[in-house]
Amino acid sequence: MIFKQLFDPVSSTYTYLLAERRGGEALIIDPVLEQVPNYLGLIEYLKIELVMAIDTHIHADHITGIGKLNVATRCATAMGEQTKAECLSHRFSEGEILRADGVELAAIYTPGHTDDSYSFLMDGHVFTGDTLLIRGTGRTDFQNGDPGAQYDSIFDKLLKLPDKTLVYPAHDYEGRTWSTIGEERRLNPRLQVKTRQEYINQMSALKLDPPRLIDVAVPANRHCGFPMAA
Ligand code: FE
Repeated sequence: MIFKQLFDPVSSTYTYLLAERRGGEALIIDPVLEQVPNYLGLIEYLKIELVMAIDTHIHADHITGIGKLNVATRCATAMGEQTKAECLSHRFSEGEILRADGVELAAIYTPGHTDDSYSFLMDGHVFTGDTLLIRGTGRTDFQNGDPGAQYDSIFDKLLKLPDKTLVYPAHDYEGRTWSTIGEERRLNPRLQVKTRQEYINQMSALKLDPPRLIDVAVPANRHCGFPMAA
């Protein structure tokens, strides 16, 4: 198995490049525009064929690389059916399996951080986007974020996975690379609530500055990372 967790230091984004073997087909999750040359170098080195570039949601903190990867490799571009992105070749829905040769990702609709957020389950690994972070959860105060929906996504879907499931988020700001569902259930401070309302109150009380790039990134990401035509 080729499992590359790649890091964009400017936005602290994790990108995942997945393939069964050298020479096989590959998927990429949450590519960052500025890192596309690095992904292409790795794809060439591993002699893999990128068949699909996926965003877990419309990001507000970096510009996506899915459009540029599509131009470079003709890979499909995919997001969930709820997204407002207008440039995609595929829209997936809850329970759908996204496939490359020997790799299967099961799409789990996990709204809350945004209304188009998905997680993906692959053989004991879950890619959680910004829904569940390591010792945190994604903010819910813009892009139709909804703390109640996020509580349902986390408690009714992600935390129902086996404790040993490995958690791979879309970001970490302190260098942590992975966790497990069991560890997050016990140690994630945001999840130590007794009720849904307590979770909503906690998220609503956060007073966060908007992401620096939101006014640039969100419009561009609705077009797969290309600036809007003037
Ligand atoms: Fe996000």
